[in-house]
Amino acid sequence: MSADRFDVLVLGGGVAGCVLAARLGEDPGRSVCLVEAGPDHGPDPAGWPAPLLDARALPRQDLWERKVAAHRFRARVVGGSSCVNGCWNTWGSEADHREWVRAGGERWGAAAMEPYRDAAVRAMGLRPVPGRELSPWARAAADAARELGHAEVDMGRTGEPGYGFPLLNAHDGLRRNAALAYLGPEVRARSRLTVLPHAVADRLLVRGDRVDGVVVLVDGVPRTLRAERYVVAAGAFGSPALLLRSGIGPAGELRALGIDPVLDLPGVGANLSDQPGVFVPLAPTPELDAALAAKERDGELYVSRVLLRTAGAHAPEDGWNLHVLPSAGPPLFGSLPPGRYEAGVSAFLMKPASRGSVRLTSADPLAPLALDPGFLTDPEGHDLAALRSGLETALALAGTAALKGLAALPGGTAPHLLGDDELRARAGTYWHPAGTCAMGPDDDPAAVVDGEGRVRGLANLTVADASVLPTVPAANTQLPVLATAELLAAALTTGPGA
Ligand SMILES: Cc1cc2nc3c(=O)[nH]c(=O)nc-3n(C[C@H](O)[C@H](O)[C@H](O)COP(=O)(O)OP(=O)(O)OC[C@H]3O[C@@H](n4cnc5c(N)ncnc54)[C@H](O)[C@@H]3O)c2cc1C
Repeated sequence: MSADRFDVLVLGGGVAGCVLAARLGEDPGRSVCLVEAGPDHGPDPAGWPAPLLDARALPRQDLWERKVAAHRFRARVVGGSSCVNGCWNTWGSEADHREWVRAGGERWGAAAMEPYRDAAVRAMGLRPVPGRELSPWARAAADAARELGHAEVDMGRTGEPGYGFPLLNAHDGLRRNAALAYLGPEVRARSRLTVLPHAVADRLLVRGDRVDGVVVLVDGVPRTLRAERYVVAAGAFGSPALLLRSGIGPAGELRALGIDPVLDLPGVGANLSDQPGVFVPLAPTPELDAALAAKERDGELYVSRVLLRTAGAHAPEDGWNLHVLPSAGPPLFGSLPPGRYEAGVSAFLMKPASRGSVRLTSADPLAPLALDPGFLTDPEGHDLAALRSGLETALALAGTAALKGLAALPGGTAPHLLGDDELRARAGTYWHPAGTCAMGPDDDPAAVVDGEGRVRGLANLTVADASVLPTVPAANTQLPVLATAELLAAALTTGPGA
């Protein structure tokens, strides 16, 4: 076999890509190449840049773009966005699974996905926050949730609304990302797994109903790699972009960019769902600042570790549509003088009705993408109403006896009473984009892949990352994406494409 031919090419080495490379590489008879646009910092944490390992902050290195709107942030490194994210892991509701079963069949049900969820929890070393690490703010936030009548729930599973503690992929302040978890020294020692960093997948070469190669820019130089099966795992922005550059997508749009359409799939790049949120700032008391400073000196200050999941306006049956997040610590953006911290409560809309899109601006793989998150734009205004109900809960939490002694609400218009445009202007992101190569049943014209991630109309092409989820779960997406990749890797090794 030539150096450029493999059994499987995994295109994109992020959260899902690491899972797929590891699982598909378990068969010693199968050669697998993992192609990643960014660097590979290797299997030993000692070789990693310190900011990527520091779980107490969101690093700003190894990104595709810097100094852009926050919703565009995505990592460019083996390990993907698990190297730059908040290390929080939660699971969604029964309602999410109902939506996914409708789109992809019974394997997407809550019970059927449990083994994949569990495998991801084990591999990533996910664990609840040890009590001793909770800050005085986090303890008070849990008291505040109880004061409002919420019960404690397991954030790592489906169940009821309530408050709880997300599972962390961080130990003693160090972020354990998907590259370290899935591509450790033993896995890499397998002779038939190749990791190819600094390699941008430009376009797939389609011949008839098969992919016959992929053009990759390795350190800027084009090279064609070939395989029996191609698995695209370039994330909710990168995967549709690669398909579009390959002529797979809405034919009219592609022609307008000078790209010859090879497969008219209108759903590619459409249906972008991400979770918008609004931060309600509070003014920390000197006592809270002092307590947080002591925690920081002990190396135990994570941004926030208590979460309330609640059903606000337009919540699905059997589910919740809001995360209400009390946080206190170093600011996510910018900086404050030593010993001063940012406190507040955010409300995030977890089940948006609004949809955005990912489009190309050019056929050049290095050109920036046109990313429209579509936040709070659904014509019925359900998303604005749901977010407002979350902001009311945020205010109620801030006003509890447990929290109001630690941080005060500044004056001014209450956030849920702000006008629509102002609310849209204040909306940030929870960084959970999904849905841009959505799975769906045969009769859904917007479906890009089937329940096993196979691209409709092509025999040997799979998409296997956040982009296949037709609806974003009512959860932080890392754990659901890990489980999705585990599920699709199992389908690939047991299905007809094995
Ligand atoms: C700032 C931030 C904070 C977040 N916080 C959390 C959190 O606390 N908890 C949580 O659950 N989730 C969080 N997330 C979301 C979570 O990280 C994602 O859901 C998850 O990483 C998605 O996995 P993925 O494999 O689909 O994409 P990614 O992990 O983004 O991986 C995609 C990979 O593909 C590569 N790629 C793209 N295009 C190409 C190409 N053409 N050629 C080669 N390689 C390519 C990219 O460089 C990247 O490495 C956060 C995300 C961000 C950005």
